[in-house]
Amino acid sequence: MFGARGSNAPTTWKHIENDFVMGACAHQLFGYITRSPSDEWTAFDSDSRPIGHFTPLDAAKTALWTTHQPTHHKQCTSRINRWWNRPSRQAPTPSAMALSGGVSR
Ligand SMILES: [Zn+2]
Repeated sequence: MFGARGSNAPTTWKHIENDFVMGACAHQLFGYITRSPSDEWTAFDSDSRPIGHFTPLDAAKTALWTTHQPTHHKQCTSRINRWWNRPSRQAPTPSAMALSGGVSR
C-alpha cells in the first residue's frame, strides 16, 4: 500500500486485526501499534511503553521505527555487538541461527 517507509529500513508490519499492527525488523519485534475507538493510533515500544498517539497509521510506524533505530543499529544489524548485553548464555534461538548465515537452502 505504501511504498515509502525508509530507504533501507528492514521493517515488516504485520496487521493482526484492523486495529493492531506489529512492527518487526530483521530479527525481532520492536513494537506494536493499536488503534483506539477514536481512530487514533498509539505506538508502543518493545517494552510496551507508549511512544505517542498518531493519526495516520504511517506516522505511528515512522515514530516506532525511529524510536527503535538506535537500538537497531546496536543490537539488530550487528551481531558482533550483541554479546555485551546478552543476559545469559542460552541455547541459540532460531533468529540467532538465522543471523549466523543463511539457513535457507
Ligand atoms: Zn531492530
